[in-house]
Amino acid sequence: MTSRSVGRTPCVRAPKIRQSPDEHTPSETPGDTVTQPNRTAIGFDEGSNGAAHWFGELTRRRSAGPISAQHKVLPRSLSPETLAVHAGTYEDPITGSVGTPIFQTSTFLLDDASYGAFSDGALRDVPIYTRYGNPSQWSVQEKIAALEGAESALVTSSGMSAIANTIYALTNSGSHIISAYDVYGGTYNLLREDMPSAGREVTFVDPTDIEAIRSAVRPETQVLFFEALTNPLLKAPAIRQIAGIAAAANALLVVDNTFLTPVLMQPLALGADVVIHSATKYLAGHSDLTAGAAAGRRKFLDRIWAQTLRFGGTLEPLSCFLLERGIKTLPLRIEKQNDNAREIAKFLASHERVAEVYHPALGGDRYADLEHADYRGYGGMVSFEVNGGDAAALAFMRNLTVPYVATSLGGVESLVSMPSNTSHSSLTTRQMSLIGINPGLVRFSAGIENARDLIGDLRHALDALDEEGVR
Ligand SMILES: *Cc1c(COP(=O)(O)O)cnc(C)c1O
Repeated sequence: MTSRSVGRTPCVRAPKIRQSPDEHTPSETPGDTVTQPNRTAIGFDEGSNGAAHWFGELTRRRSAGPISAQHKVLPRSLSPETLAVHAGTYEDPITGSVGTPIFQTSTFLLDDASYGAFSDGALRDVPIYTRYGNPSQWSVQEKIAALEGAESALVTSSGMSAIANTIYALTNSGSHIISAYDVYGGTYNLLREDMPSAGREVTFVDPTDIEAIRSAVRPETQVLFFEALTNPLLKAPAIRQIAGIAAAANALLVVDNTFLTPVLMQPLALGADVVIHSATKYLAGHSDLTAGAAAGRRKFLDRIWAQTLRFGGTLEPLSCFLLERGIKTLPLRIEKQNDNAREIAKFLASHERVAEVYHPALGGDRYADLEHADYRGYGGMVSFEVNGGDAAALAFMRNLTVPYVATSLGGVESLVSMPSNTSHSSLTTRQMSLIGINPGLVRFSAGIENARDLIGDLRHALDALDEEGVR
């Protein structure tokens, strides 16, 4: 650390997280467990002329964290594009590293601050053990919190970890939960299989039927759980109205925002209490990791964090790095995926081998009640029914050359699959038709490829069905 540290005058930057005892200021003598200015100071460049000065005053804002003095905290009023790149970055005072280092460690040196955290119950705010917290997690958590307009966020080892920990944390035995009968399969199984034995009763409703949701409310209802856009039929529940029902019932609204991402909808601003992500999908965006996230007010996130300590499911530092890097391009990717999905939906609606197309940008009766002002776009998913049923849909998918035939979604590469033989294969034909999953339904996750190439490939794969004699 020679020329670098001289140029960066580390002495005027906020102190690093770990202080050896002899670095303590008089107010931090052993036994003084509350004062931890090194961990609570906000901003990254107090008084120096460092390169990071360009945000000026904007940087000196408090956050509910957890963060350290080195984590970049930006006001939530900045644009998603800016927050996605900069929010939460750990600015290492020793090396001047532009990106967040990977804190590949399971544990941290114990010092007075750690012991203070133990005695004060402030274990979420001090790096002690990675299941409890790690600066790599804090970076990506602050980025997600900033994008969702939340006080605090938590990253977990999968979307299901975020969902299970959140639902357990926010309900007690004897309570009641309302959700959608066509919620993500893993969520449905958790609600259906595990909640009753844990003493939570669940009512499943049509997420677009506001009156059904309202009349499902009971005195003991604690959580309403809905998806911002549903899988695979892209139903768009009225989140703002459901938030009103939850508030009137003194219950919490949890929204799984995986399909829209905060770039397109911020459920917290519409009245939701906690937002969930399968970060495996759009947030990470490259189909290369499994992760989840929850975001909301610190008091809720502290409970979810405590639940995650007990159940496990923390996110590994290397995956935090990959997720943080992925989110930097989220707004760019989403814009392209929106455009591609919209163009694909329009093309499919005009093709005679396609019976039905599901995408909010197409409008129509299905989306008559959509509060367009609540969306900045409708995402990269398109579902459609191939004439000829499941056999024709399978033949169609085999004819595609650009997208991969695989489950999952939200990656830079287009993915295509059929719900009936993957995500929804455990349902009976009757259950599927109740949800609206008709024979021949295909789900397309638009990547960031060229729209003309994707549409050309789709056209070829559909036209070839006739040549192959598939009916
Ligand atoms: C994939 C998905 C999940 C589960 O996330 P994992 O990361 O696979 O655990 C939850 N909700 C939705 C909407 C999803 O698409």
